[in-house]
Amino acid sequence: MREPRAAYLSLGANLGNREETLREAVRRIGAAESVELTAVSSVYETEPWGKLDQPRFLNLAVAVETTLSPEALLALAQKIEKELGRVRHERWGARTIDIDILCFEGVERNTPDLTLPHPYMTERAFVLVPLAEIAPALTVKGKTVEAWRQATEDQGIVLYKKEEAE
Ligand code: ATP
Ligand code: CA
Ligand code: CA
Repeated sequence: MREPRAAYLSLGANLGNREETLREAVRRIGAAESVELTAVSSVYETEPWGKLDQPRFLNLAVAVETTLSPEALLALAQKIEKELGRVRHERWGARTIDIDILCFEGVERNTPDLTLPHPYMTERAFVLVPLAEIAPALTVKGKTVEAWRQATEDQGIVLYKKEEAE
């Protein structure tokens, strides 16, 4: 059997009950076969990025250990998006849930369906702030996540950390 490898995912939601949807998505990732959740960040409220005319997002990051291939992990993420009612599929538009794979230990990919590391991860504060909470020393494209976070120019879009829901 393949050795488990670390992977990092970014989750975002800006329609419906955002927090409940995020929590359910995290639960389903952790419940999936061959996937173990190893860290979950706090939830952050953020201004939309790319397409500005839409509601605010809630974002978080998770770390997993998995024996799945990167493609199988993407398929799992897309299945969960669908189950949780993601309907519109407009890039950067409003969505019930978005689950992106940020990076996957030892893997680079550049296919139409999967780019790893995620091409925009190093310039998005809404990705880097939660990720730096759980994996500050992770190295991506030659720099640590914490260094990328400090270098992001759009830190103002991360409005605040939500208190843990009881
Ligand atoms: P962005 O990728 O810039 O964050 P988005 O999340 O709004 O934009 P989607 O509409 O959710 O984009 O996805 C478009 C396609 O991106 C998906 O069909 C998927 O195949 C592809 N994709 C490529 N690389 C990745 C990745 N690392 N994680 C998730 N999807 C990816
Ligand atoms: Ca995305
Ligand atoms: Ca996506």
